[in-house]
Amino acid sequence: MKDKKDQISAKEAWALNKKAIAYWWNIDRRIFISTAACNIIKAISPYITIYFSAQLIGEIAGQHRPQELVRIAAIVLIATAIMGLISAALQRWKNAVHESIFYINRKQQLDKMLSMDFCDTDDMDVQNLLRHIQEGDNWSGWGTTRVSGKIFSDVITAVTKIIGAVALSVTLFTSQVPQGNMDFLNSPWMVVLILGIMMATAIISPMLQVKGERYFTEGCADEVKRSNRIFCCYGHMAIDDKSRSEDVRMYTQEVFCIEKSNANAWAGKDSKISRYARGPMGFLLGLAVAVSRIFTGVAYLFVCLKAWAGAFGVGYVTQYISAITSLSSGVSLLLSTWGMIRTNAIYLKDTFAFFELPNKMYQGSLTVEKRSDRNYQVEFRNVSFQYPGSQQWALRNVSMKFTIGERLAVVGQNGSGKTTMIKLLCRLYDPAEGEILLNGINIRKYNYKEYMSIFSVVFQDFQLLSLPLGQNVAAAGQYDNGWARQCLEEAGFGPRLATMPQGLETCLFKDFDNKGVAVSGGEAQKIAIARALYKNAPFIVLDEPTAALDPIAEAEIYAKFNTLIQDRTAVYISHRLSSCRFCDRIAVFHEGSVVQFGTHEELLADKNGQYNQLWNAQAQYYVS
Ligand code: ADP
Repeated sequence: MKDKKDQISAKEAWALNKKAIAYWWNIDRRIFISTAACNIIKAISPYITIYFSAQLIGEIAGQHRPQELVRIAAIVLIATAIMGLISAALQRWKNAVHESIFYINRKQQLDKMLSMDFCDTDDMDVQNLLRHIQEGDNWSGWGTTRVSGKIFSDVITAVTKIIGAVALSVTLFTSQVPQGNMDFLNSPWMVVLILGIMMATAIISPMLQVKGERYFTEGCADEVKRSNRIFCCYGHMAIDDKSRSEDVRMYTQEVFCIEKSNANAWAGKDSKISRYARGPMGFLLGLAVAVSRIFTGVAYLFVCLKAWAGAFGVGYVTQYISAITSLSSGVSLLLSTWGMIRTNAIYLKDTFAFFELPNKMYQGSLTVEKRSDRNYQVEFRNVSFQYPGSQQWALRNVSMKFTIGERLAVVGQNGSGKTTMIKLLCRLYDPAEGEILLNGINIRKYNYKEYMSIFSVVFQDFQLLSLPLGQNVAAAGQYDNGWARQCLEEAGFGPRLATMPQGLETCLFKDFDNKGVAVSGGEAQKIAIARALYKNAPFIVLDEPTAALDPIAEAEIYAKFNTLIQDRTAVYISHRLSSCRFCDRIAVFHEGSVVQFGTHEELLADKNGQYNQLWNAQAQYYVS
C-alpha cells in the first residue's frame, strides 16, 4: 500500500482528473459526446420499461381492460425496440471512437519523446516515467485512458440513473397510507430513515470496495508492472525483436524467454494477489456486496408495507423497488467512481509529469543565413561535456575549427570522444562548458531545424526503415527519382539497384511487403551514405562510414571521396588510418581531448605522438 507521503490529496486528485478530461477534449471531443449519448440512453431505457410495466401490472391487477392492455403492451414493445436500436447504434459509435484511444495515447507519447530535449530521452528517470505510464495503461487502462473510458462513462451513468430514479420514486414518499395502524408510514421520519439507510449503504459499500481494490491497484502494482516489463522484454524477444532472434536460437535463449515469463506469474497460487484475495481483499469486496444488499431488503420492506397498507396499487411495487434500488446503485457508482478518481490520480501525476517536461534546449530563434557559397564556419571553443549522470568527462576543453571546404579526419581509440563531438555538433546535447559557434554565433541561438539543415550526418548506428528504397534515401514520401538514383550510384549502390526489379520502389525489409528485400550491413551503409548525399547539405559528417563495407567497396568509396564530397566541409571519423590520408587534416582524440592536429605527414613525423602509435599498430599487420 502507498505511504502517506505518496498519497495525493482529494483536491489534487480532482484537478489531475479534470486535466485529463481537458487533455482528451482537446484531442477528440467525440470521446465524451459519444459516451454521454450512449450512456444516457442506456441508463434511461430500463426506466421506460419499468414505468410501462408498472402500468401494465396495475391494469392487470385492476380494471384489466383489454384495449388498454394492448395499448400499453404496444407502447412497451415499440419503446423498447426504438431504445434498443438507438442504444446499439450509439454503442457502435462509442466503440469506434474509443478504439483509437490506445493509439492516440501512444502517438502523444511519441510526439513528446521526439520534441523533448534529446538528453532527456536518454535519461533513466524519463525512461522510467514513460514505462510507468505505459505499464499502468497496459495493465488496466490506468491514467488518461481510465478517464476517457471508465470514469467519465460511470459518472454519466450514475447521474442519469439518479435523476431517473428520483423522478420515478418521488410519489413513493408522497403517497399516503389511509388512516389506521399502518399510518406511521406517512411520517416524514420514515422518509428520513429510508433515505438515511440508503445513503449509509451507498457510502459504506463503495468505501469497502475501494479499500479492497486498493490491495490490487496499489499493493500489487509493483509486481504487476515488473511482470509486464519482464514479459515485454523476454516474451517479445523471440517474436518481435528480429535483431535478437538469431542470437536467441544460436544460444538457446528461448530457455530464458520461457523461464522468465513463467517465473513471473504474478497471479499464481502463492502470489501476493492470491493471498490478498483469500484474505483482506476478498473479505472487503464480499462485505461491500453484502452491505449494498441490506438496502435492497429495506427498500422491498418499505414499498411492500406501503402497498399492503393501501398507499398505491400493486403495479407501483415494481416501479418503486426498481427505482429506489437504482437510486442506491447510482449513488454507489458515483461514490466508487470517486475512489477510482483518487487511485487514478497516482497514474495521472506521472503522466502529466512526463508531458510537462520542459524543453530547454531548442529555444533558439535565429535564422541560418542561406549561402550558395556554403561558407559556414563551425568552431568548437573550449568545449567540455559529461553525459547526464556520468562523472567522467567525455570531452574536455576541445577547441577546433572546421575550415570551410576542408576534409577533416577524426581518429582516436574507442571511447576517446569522437562520436560525442559529433553529437554536440548536431545539438543532441549541449556543452557543459565552452561553446560551439556557427559563423561566430553560439549555435544555441539558432532555430534548431534551420541549424540542422546545414548538416548531413551518417551515424554509426544509423537505421533504415521498412519503406521503399527511394523514400529511405530521400527521408520523405515524395522524392526526386533522378537525384535519388544518382546519390545511390555515387555511394556505390548502383550495381545492386540494377538487380532490383522494382528499382527505387523496392521495399526494404519484409514488414509490409513480402517482396521486400533484406540488405546486407555494407549495402545498408551505402544507402545511408546516399541518404546523406541526397540532403545535399553544406556540411557532411560520416561516422565510420565504411566499417561494414568489404575492402573493394571501401576502396571504391575512397577513390570517389572527392567527387562525393565536392565543395562541402566534411568530417570523417574512422578507425582505419589509411583512409585518413586523403583528408586535408587530421584531429587525434585521446581521453576526450584533441591531442594532435595536422596533416598526415606532420602527425606521422611526431614519433612519440598518439597518431604515430595508432598508425604503426595498424600498419604492422600489413607490413608483416
Ligand atoms: P568514440 O566515438 O571515440 O568511440 P564516444 O564519443 O562514443 O567515443 O564516447 C566517449 C565517452 O563517453 C566514453 O567513455 C563512453 O563510454 C561515454 N559515453 C558515450 N555515450 C554515452 C552515453 N549515452 N551515456 C554515458 N556515457 C556515454
